[in-house]
Amino acid sequence: MSKTITITGAAGQIGYQLAFRIASGQLLGTDEKINLNLLEITPALNALNGVAMELEDCAFSTLNKITVTDNPDIAFQDTDFSFLVGAKPRGPGMERSDLLIGNAAIFSLQGKALNDNASRDVKVLVVGNPANTNALIAMSNAPDLRPNSFTAMMRLDHNRAIAQLAHKTGVHSNEIKQMIIWGNHSTTQYPDINHALIGDQKINTLVDHDWIKNEFIPKVQVRGAEIIKARGLSSAASAASAAIDHMNNWELGTAEDDWVSMAIPSDGSYGIAEGIIYSFPVTCSNGQYEIIQGLEIDDFSREAMHASESELLEEKEAIKHLL
Ligand code: NDP
Repeated sequence: MSKTITITGAAGQIGYQLAFRIASGQLLGTDEKINLNLLEITPALNALNGVAMELEDCAFSTLNKITVTDNPDIAFQDTDFSFLVGAKPRGPGMERSDLLIGNAAIFSLQGKALNDNASRDVKVLVVGNPANTNALIAMSNAPDLRPNSFTAMMRLDHNRAIAQLAHKTGVHSNEIKQMIIWGNHSTTQYPDINHALIGDQKINTLVDHDWIKNEFIPKVQVRGAEIIKARGLSSAASAASAAIDHMNNWELGTAEDDWVSMAIPSDGSYGIAEGIIYSFPVTCSNGQYEIIQGLEIDDFSREAMHASESELLEEKEAIKHLL
């Protein structure tokens, strides 16, 4: 038995990290053989061939077959796990609406190709920005696949929040449980620590509200920009790592005493509008995710959750003719 895994934008920064980690067995374990389908735009095919040569040269015991292509129908053929990383980058002077529409063309085509070619149980993770709305477009163009096959990545934000809390409280990041990122993968995302724990202790009793509001939340929201400033390039290895965490938990399950943040089609939980891809706290088992229900939401959180919901509704409005 082998699994087929697709990566789009595979010659890019994130793709270059992701492909090697997946091929070495870090997504599904070393018992599972992998067919890797790598998709790029035509001008990047030469670079992608170079990536494929390097993958071969690793002689990974888990890697069965590599397919390099610029054709989405080939890239998504029988795919079990699809990482949609490639996206149109924001150009100078480009309006947000231009970015949304430019990407809508890419993600509607890929949604159709998934619909026609993917395994009926495919798991799709959109990383390319604006990730939540790109996932909505792909989902809407794949009517024969289950809507809950489409997700967008919030896990890097989730992991960043845990790292900041571990730093602040002086514990290992493993000890921080039940963190939540609500909303959109943008600066309106809401990192919510009201339910987060270290052991049995609520973290919001260990840190003061001013720090949460004025330091922690902005730090998580703009961490990407901080990395660009330091590295001269956007985060790539940490984004690839988070993508693997997301898909690994979705397929193989979350820890018993913890949950993770995933952007998924809203079912109306917590009063969030249906018809958008919004990040909720979820647990995963048997290859399915389920939203944590019944959490108490205070006024500050409610306002922040709705601000991110409004942004997603505006993004949806800008591309609604393509849905
Ligand atoms: P990266 O690999 O650095 O980023 C790819 C996408 O991931 C971008 O949209 C980026 O958003 C997004 N992203 C999401 N979360 C993060 C994060 N935390 N940190 C950084 N990025 C994040 O981009 P490259 O330009 O290096 O590579 C993109 C590749 O995609 C190129 O090789 C290009 O040819 C390809 N491409 C492929 C397509 C296809 O397969 N059909 C279509 C379009 C492009 P942001 O822009 O906001 O940083």
